[in-house]
Amino acid sequence: APAGRMEDDKGPEYGKPDFVLLDQVTMEDFMENLKLRFEKGRIYTYIGEVLVSVNPYQELPLYGPEAITQYQGRELYERPPHLYAVANAAYKAMKRRSRDTCIVISGESGAGKTEASKHIMQYIAAVTNPSQRAEVERVKDVLLNSTCVLEAFGNARTNRNHNSSRFGKYMDINFDFKGDPIGGHIHSYLLEKSRVLKQHVGERNFHSFYQMLRGSEEELLRDLHLQRNPALYAFTRQGAGLNCGLQWPLDSDERSLLAVTLVMIVGFFLDEMEVVQVPLACTLFMGNIEFVETKEEGPEKEGLVVAEEVLVDYVAELTATPRDQVLRSLLARTVASGGRELIEKAHSTAEACYARDACAKAVYQRLFEWIVNKINSVMEARGRDPRRDGKDTVIGVLDIYGFEVFPVNSFEQFCINYCNEKLQQLFIQLILKQEQEEYQREGITWQSIDYFNNAAIVELVERPPRGILAVLDEACSSAGSVTDRIFLQTLDTHHRHHAHYSSRQLCPTDKSMEFGRDFRIKHYAGNVTYSVEGFIDKNRDFLFQDFKRLLYNSTDPTLRAMWPDGQQDITEVTKRPLTAGTLFKSSMVALVENLASKEPYYVRCIKPNEEKVAGRLDEGHCRHQVAYLGLLENVRVRRAGFASRQPYPRFLLRYKMTCEYTWPNHLLGSDRAAVSALLEQHGLQGDVAFGHSKLFIRSPQTLVTLEQSRARL
Ligand code: ATP
Ligand code: MG
Repeated sequence: APAGRMEDDKGPEYGKPDFVLLDQVTMEDFMENLKLRFEKGRIYTYIGEVLVSVNPYQELPLYGPEAITQYQGRELYERPPHLYAVANAAYKAMKRRSRDTCIVISGESGAGKTEASKHIMQYIAAVTNPSQRAEVERVKDVLLNSTCVLEAFGNARTNRNHNSSRFGKYMDINFDFKGDPIGGHIHSYLLEKSRVLKQHVGERNFHSFYQMLRGSEEELLRDLHLQRNPALYAFTRQGAGLNCGLQWPLDSDERSLLAVTLVMIVGFFLDEMEVVQVPLACTLFMGNIEFVETKEEGPEKEGLVVAEEVLVDYVAELTATPRDQVLRSLLARTVASGGRELIEKAHSTAEACYARDACAKAVYQRLFEWIVNKINSVMEARGRDPRRDGKDTVIGVLDIYGFEVFPVNSFEQFCINYCNEKLQQLFIQLILKQEQEEYQREGITWQSIDYFNNAAIVELVERPPRGILAVLDEACSSAGSVTDRIFLQTLDTHHRHHAHYSSRQLCPTDKSMEFGRDFRIKHYAGNVTYSVEGFIDKNRDFLFQDFKRLLYNSTDPTLRAMWPDGQQDITEVTKRPLTAGTLFKSSMVALVENLASKEPYYVRCIKPNEEKVAGRLDEGHCRHQVAYLGLLENVRVRRAGFASRQPYPRFLLRYKMTCEYTWPNHLLGSDRAAVSALLEQHGLQGDVAFGHSKLFIRSPQTLVTLEQSRARL
């Protein structure tokens, strides 16, 4: 029964609610506790204030209004570990102490990050705005509903997760002095746009395509010149036989589209779905465009033509651009020759295909960004005057793609894994920093301890002038002459002695890498072999100015707004635009800076098995995640000084029944004195230190003893 689950779990059969309480910090003990709890449906366990969560892959009666009230206003340890408790702690810190806080959710693909972020949002929405102010209700609705739209356009079915986020998301929620949400802002990071073109077997393109094709009314499809069957389009063919794989109520593409449409029209004031479906349809048509070389002689006839010209008609009509210009942009590019003179240069087949693909990806990416901006403009805090209304405080929620290893890893995985290195580094710094600061604040002496530091890996990737990103940028700026292979050779030269870098050239006996193609990084989470193929192209992320200008000149205002850079003339276009890698790096640096300025709360998600089945915990799989998330170290750091700390009142609340001087109430002047008496009665006073406001307990055995005497009552 739901109520039963929320009961405080006494007794050893439920395992330890906090890993800090383990008798010894070994992988075996950690795993045993994790497993024990998981089998009892206890998917959440603390490490101090960090929440470890294991994806149950089934509905558990842990959520909803009744559960929320159990956590509202409580302290972290008063109730069984839960996301609601973490959300509540962040919310309280924000409200009572006016601290900007953030909740960082990490874990590999399918570990449950996005679901966790939704539960956190639901908690915050449920406990705020008791007076039902209309403007606050509006903001809350957008906060909650935007997820469904972002997931439609930014998530896809992959082999690891049927609803995998293919972008990183950081959402700020702004609160007024009453603690009610009055606005929000979403940052998105590096959408995996290569998915638009190609998906692995068993995977799909972004949900939005199938939703549009399967869910739209006949009339709309006709207007868009689309046919219902996804197998008819190159970009959706691969996944056409697969359903969305989601759960009720979004368990079909048709139903998902209804939900998305509702939010878009009612929440974002879109007149009609066609606004966003035009770019989607164009993307699909681009995918079907093929080029053939004409054999006919003669200067005008020679060269490329589009195989199926009706596709060009469709694209022109939908994008509201002249047909001949669409065709020209597909077949040729404008180049500035020497001075200011512009000439048109015909594409080779390979160039035309490259340009077409780049354009299709860009159309989708800009649509996604436009949607994010749309959500932001609707969520913006309105009509606020900081002088009158006081300062806003913020809770940020980060749900970003987790560490990824595939059979073949490319530039996208490289960026995603670099991002995870950065976040892991922040985790290390903050967890240590916080500990030290707390000891200082409470007047306790503390000896800092060693911790695995991944700084060397982060530097290998990002530190100029030899870091991988800098070397890659250099390769990209060398006017097409540098190949992926040469890029790899340069890396080999620079990093031949780096402890975290290797390649086949440096390690000839290692057959798991291919000569001239692969390099390997020893990440904090494990070794990943990257194939350099496509690194330069993906980093350069080049799109011919002709396409940008074409779409900027569209008479459709929405489309035009997505292409502001199309107004630049070819002669003004900077020779070296920022590369994808550099842009990503700056966005990561900014993100980490932002997170570091806030009081952090961590949720570490674990994926229990690869098969997505309910209730099974694959030990080897979990062990690996526990290791790379640094959870054992986390427990050790937490225990190195003191296994546990609790404010005096909270400690009394939990243990006062174990001592005659404190039950039911104490007459000892201060809570601190009462705690002291209680500990003396148990003979535990030697294992603790008394801080200004908190009791620090050195060994977990002390807590175990206390817990046992409590359970005996
Ligand atoms: P990715 O990095 O690929 O985006 P993720 O960590 O965001 O992965 P989710 O999409 O949150 O993973 O979770 C994957 C699936 O696991 C969900 O679609 C859902 O079926 C299941 N799941 C996750 N968390 C829970 C939960 N708390 N209760 C029940 N099912 C869950
Ligand atoms: Mg996700």
